[in-house]
Amino acid sequence: MFRCTDCGAEHPSFRYTCPRCGSALLFVGDELSWRPDGAGMWRYRSMLPVDRRVTMCEGGTPLIRRRDVEDEVYLKVEGNNPTGSFKDRGTSVILSDAVGRGFSTMAVASTGNMGASVAAYSAYSNLEALVFLPADVPDEKVAQILAYGARLVRVEGSFREAARAMREEADGAYLATTGLNPYFIEGLKTVAFELFEQMGVPDTVIVPTGTGGLLTAVHKGFEELRALGMTTSVPRMVAAQAAAAAPIVEAWRDRGPLRTPEEASSIASAILVKEPYNGLSAIAAMDRSGGGGIEVTDDEIIAAVRELGREGVFAEPSAAASLAAYRKTGKAGRTVLIVTGSGLKDPMAALEAARGRGP
Ligand SMILES: [Zn+2]
Repeated sequence: MFRCTDCGAEHPSFRYTCPRCGSALLFVGDELSWRPDGAGMWRYRSMLPVDRRVTMCEGGTPLIRRRDVEDEVYLKVEGNNPTGSFKDRGTSVILSDAVGRGFSTMAVASTGNMGASVAAYSAYSNLEALVFLPADVPDEKVAQILAYGARLVRVEGSFREAARAMREEADGAYLATTGLNPYFIEGLKTVAFELFEQMGVPDTVIVPTGTGGLLTAVHKGFEELRALGMTTSVPRMVAAQAAAAAPIVEAWRDRGPLRTPEEASSIASAILVKEPYNGLSAIAAMDRSGGGGIEVTDDEIIAAVRELGREGVFAEPSAAASLAAYRKTGKAGRTVLIVTGSGLKDPMAALEAARGRGP
């Protein structure tokens, strides 16, 4: 069953979005069971809504304790996934569904990482991939998408225009865009299951946040564990957004509606999403868990990239937003910082950090 994150309508079968109001849907499973078996993300197949058909050994990422800090702070290094970002977890579920239903073409609008992920998994599955990209995607991500043999469609404007172009031009394709496919969230929630097995339930999880999908998913994973009686608590969920485009943090703070910023630019291109598709569910997760939201500036992000690098973890700017936010929250108990993507995704930003920009 699929439930709308806005109007609450329930739909018995798979849809991309709510037919009644157009908002994002979440899968609600009543036959989940906790029976971890095997390695990687599909170790949790008994908690997932589709059969495994397409896997490139995503998930199973390291949890590294930060050294030289008094608090217990851990890094969940999602750059170790096959294409260098957490997106591969969601893509594996999405491609498994698409292949199971006989699609031959995948379409995705992306700020880069999801495009690369869908391109790779499509190539592995012998499917064609159409990737719609806005103007300001780093060349390294474009190169990665092209390397996987995807058909690239550059769109003038932002992610919003890219998503619109995809819906108009990708007739008959399976749509894999973040926030427009509830199975994406299902893959991402396995981050929570891994954390649970690696360390138990942390006090706080800080998540770099663009559409709100990953934060929604990690919370959903812990809530499912609680519903199954595996734990009695869930972690505080904290969103870290780029100050240039922080609709989820602003709506949470102001108790107001989700407003999409008009013009925005940030070094954190992967979370520079003005369309918070999973924003309502992310805000609900922040509230229900006693968490919150923090905006971070480009200078603070660059300083965090440098700090992670000096600890041996190469993060792309968006991925370092979690550390930048932690710097502003201070002690938050046993804390996990999700490091969402590899620094190799955007090495020019690392050069800026190395050259000393930032505080
Ligand atoms: Zn709805």
